[in-house]
Amino acid sequence: MEDKIKHAKELIEFAVTNYPRIAIACSFGKDSMVTVHLAREVDPNIKVFSVMTLYKPKETFEYLKLMNVRWNLNTTVYMVADSIPHAFQGDSLEVRILPTAEFNINAFQVKTQTGKELYEVDPDECCRLLKVEPTKIAMKNLDAWICGLRNTEGRTREDYQEIENKGGLIKVNPILTFTEAEIWRYIATRDIEPHPWYGKGYRSLGCETCSDIGGELERDGRWKNTSKCGGECGIHTQRLK
Ligand code: SF4
Repeated sequence: MEDKIKHAKELIEFAVTNYPRIAIACSFGKDSMVTVHLAREVDPNIKVFSVMTLYKPKETFEYLKLMNVRWNLNTTVYMVADSIPHAFQGDSLEVRILPTAEFNINAFQVKTQTGKELYEVDPDECCRLLKVEPTKIAMKNLDAWICGLRNTEGRTREDYQEIENKGGLIKVNPILTFTEAEIWRYIATRDIEPHPWYGKGYRSLGCETCSDIGGELERDGRWKNTSKCGGECGIHTQRLK
């Protein structure tokens, strides 16, 4: 594992040296926290951003605030919402509120036609509006980003490369080859407090409405019992620029 840590830091060093306009995407899940921890050992001032949605568990908002202060991350949060959520109010966190019109219209139409929520009927569209489009906005002034994607997380993540170039936007996956056990070992040996939902049995965290416990692979609890089960929200599969 020490070799993997050394290699991850070398990748991050390469990225921050060659792409000064770079930031880390942090969901505040376990893999993100390891990636942020590693990256800050290379560059303590590296920018951190997070795309949140109104469907994230309240514990994610609380954990984000806690770790933002504890690690002095200066996280920029991007979020489709009418206003800054109550959980983030009165905090020094920078929250960029993004327009809701397209999401509200789509969600309203689906609700009127089916009586269901957009995430139930068309999770790809819901993820596009709440996650992919906000991530594109976060990328506007970046040439590269770093994230905590790992290739043993699930069936959709086996074929990624450590350095990707999609439309000129560079993505660096420094912990790509870490196993789930290695992530937990890193967290334990660095005394990192994890998101509380891992204590409930979750292995991969997303929106509350679309995350569940269980499954053979880590991401099998995501969009469980839908055609998108264990799949992707789109930020790793679609062009962001
Ligand atoms: S994870 Fe679910 S609620 Fe969250 S953006 Fe995607 S479909 Fe919507």
